[in-house]
Amino acid sequence: MSRTYQIRTYGCQMNVHDSERLAGLLEDAGYAPAAAGAIPDVVVFNTCAVRENADNRLYGNLGHLHPVKKEHPGMQIAVGGCLAQKDRGEIVKRAPWVDVVFGTHNIGSLPVLLERARHNNEAQVEILESLEVFPSTLPARRDSAYSGWVSISVGCNNTCTFCIVPSLRGREKDRRPGDVLAEVQALVDEGVLEVTLLGQNVNSYGVEFGDRYAFGKLLRSCGEIDGLERVRFTSPHPRDFTDDVIAAMAETPSVCHQLHMPLQSGSDRVLRAMRRSYRSERYLSILDKVRAAMPDAAITTDIIVGFPGETEEDFRATLDVVRAARFCGAFTFQYSKRPGTPAAVLDEQVPKAVVQERYERLVALQEEISWELNRDLVGRIVEVLVSEGEGRKDSETHRMSGRARDGRLVHFTPVGDAVDGQVRPGDVVHAVVTYGAPHHLVADGPLAAHRRTRSGDHWEAGVRPRTSGVSLGLPKFGRPPVEPAPTGGCAVR
Ligand code: SF4
Repeated sequence: MSRTYQIRTYGCQMNVHDSERLAGLLEDAGYAPAAAGAIPDVVVFNTCAVRENADNRLYGNLGHLHPVKKEHPGMQIAVGGCLAQKDRGEIVKRAPWVDVVFGTHNIGSLPVLLERARHNNEAQVEILESLEVFPSTLPARRDSAYSGWVSISVGCNNTCTFCIVPSLRGREKDRRPGDVLAEVQALVDEGVLEVTLLGQNVNSYGVEFGDRYAFGKLLRSCGEIDGLERVRFTSPHPRDFTDDVIAAMAETPSVCHQLHMPLQSGSDRVLRAMRRSYRSERYLSILDKVRAAMPDAAITTDIIVGFPGETEEDFRATLDVVRAARFCGAFTFQYSKRPGTPAAVLDEQVPKAVVQERYERLVALQEEISWELNRDLVGRIVEVLVSEGEGRKDSETHRMSGRARDGRLVHFTPVGDAVDGQVRPGDVVHAVVTYGAPHHLVADGPLAAHRRTRSGDHWEAGVRPRTSGVSLGLPKFGRPPVEPAPTGGCAVR
């Protein structure tokens, strides 16, 4: 019988996608996913170093697993991801029952390291300083039948002082456009309707091969792929956001009018201290251009409150930008020191109580704006790609959930004459919005349309795309799991 595995993922969407690759690698090496509730033979922690207490959480979890491992001889524990890249050998010193530690640059080594640890009966720690192979050349077992991540770059050449990404993920490495498009095509061939292009800074895509317009061109090329209905991307950086990308978004029908544009602060003084090279005026002017080209664009952002040295005046500047920008949503963070970042050693850390008070004011303002924008949508028809696991209360409310083209979460009742058989995750419905809440829309009337899709067929049959690392054009099928995750770095989520 094959050995079983379980992957526990923390952090950003990069990690979620890396875990899809870890699953693909392990399955290629003969492992099988552990059944729900069963004790796996191998537990892999794919860690995140962004949160201040990330290490406490990891060592707490490793501590809980120690007695389980003692009772199950042969069980192995592996730790990878950003925290492993940062803590390296420290992990096996603090938790000597860990078998394998691998970093962000060598996820492909996991099966070999597990085997070596077993054979030598000794922990294996392997951390590389730079990328061995682009992770997308590794096999991946995809979580979703209808939506897929596609990495276009890894690492980041910026030096934002609050961010750990450059030291843990290294300098930006761009993938060739042909490889990216081959992977997108492979996913679409397997029925996937939506792809999200992933990079820490998608707008600098092309810097490595000398084409500063490469990202806009990539969006347009995605638009030529038959059957690909939705293209999203995350995260752009205001510094490198160029007009050709706005034009490509507006002129390519499959590119969704959704933009997640990290602001971080509305104070130019704080932006300077963060080493973010744009200023609030430039930031707002980009939003103006985006809205001129796409009046229906839904724009979200990330904001850090309480960066070292932030004064009340700085914070008010952030509130001013938030009022002017009219984000439909914001991921708001209270600044916390991230060991290893330049900002962690700055004087003038803002007292916790002050940060909390500012944070609450910011959240209240943003909620007011989000709610107002969502209320404006009542009565409109939205196209929803039905998803799985996004509506926590769906079973109580007899609703289903999914994402509108602009990324808004929609809870709808799957009823009405338009329903063809049964609505399934992966299908597409058109629903009339009956209520706009601050963080979601509700559509409780009969559906205006329901389209059964290949994604829905695959979801129903329990099959998921599997992209092969050897030939991106030859995907195979595997089976699901889903584990959502929060943010990291430039909030690739
Ligand atoms: S915040 Fe984003 S742009 Fe800045 S260093 Fe981190 S990943 Fe790069």
